[in-house]
Amino acid sequence: ETALRFSGVDKRFPNGTLALTGVDLSVAAGEFVSVVGPSGCGKSTLLRLASGLDSPTAGTVHARGDSVGFVFQDATLLPWRSVLANVELPAELAGTPKPERRERAREVLELVGLDGFEKQLPGQLSGGMRMRVSLARALVTRPSLFLFDEPFGALDEITRLRMQEELQRILSEQGFSALFITHSVPEAVYLSNRVVVMSARPGRVTASFDVPFPHP
Ligand code: ADP
Ligand code: ADP
Repeated sequence: ETALRFSGVDKRFPNGTLALTGVDLSVAAGEFVSVVGPSGCGKSTLLRLASGLDSPTAGTVHARGDSVGFVFQDATLLPWRSVLANVELPAELAGTPKPERRERAREVLELVGLDGFEKQLPGQLSGGMRMRVSLARALVTRPSLFLFDEPFGALDEITRLRMQEELQRILSEQGFSALFITHSVPEAVYLSNRVVVMSARPGRVTASFDVPFPHP
């Protein structure tokens, strides 16, 4: 079963920039795939296409399922809403009744180690904790595919290592399909079942490695 499939994808922007060319890439159900490559090689473009926010100029992109969870580098939380209300938001937009979405939000906050912080505002939290909130918000709708765009890129090194461990733990408990963009090869290897390498612009997939050991 395939969670996401790119077949022969090209993306050319209206100004003529060819960002991606001939991209074939798939993510199996339950597979965690990282994409590494130099700055400007088209990683964010790839994610936008995966999310359906943008479409390819050639080839096809198919995502299975109806919900996608996003985690970006800047946690993009609403500063005036509590941690709980931020995490509830996607479920609220999806029309989930309040008692149910509140319960789910509490569950995922516990999962990311933030129980007790429900009433705080994002501005009262550290960068690492805001990233946890962002992760919880992505988990709350139980999406069939997660898209991560350098989620830990803005964190200091220690917090980044903690967050990698945290995500690794959540992955092994929950198991979900993900496309994870990073410029850190060690991070990619640590978290993934497979690492895909992209060339400089125009971005193409030049190598794909299975990570030989299962997650501990
Ligand atoms: P860290 O916070 O992990 O130390 P930085 O963001 O400081 O990483 O970036 C380290 C190096 O990686 C810099 O040389 C920077 O130009 C480069 N870099 C940053 N973002 C990207 C990216 N998206 N793709 C490729 N290289 C990047
Ligand atoms: P990465 O995430 O790997 O750094 P991006 O996907 O952001 O790369 O960008 C790939 C290339 O496409 C870059 O050269 C970038 O300047 C260009 N690009 C991105 N978005 C647009 C756009 N809307 N219009 C024109 N060029 C763009």
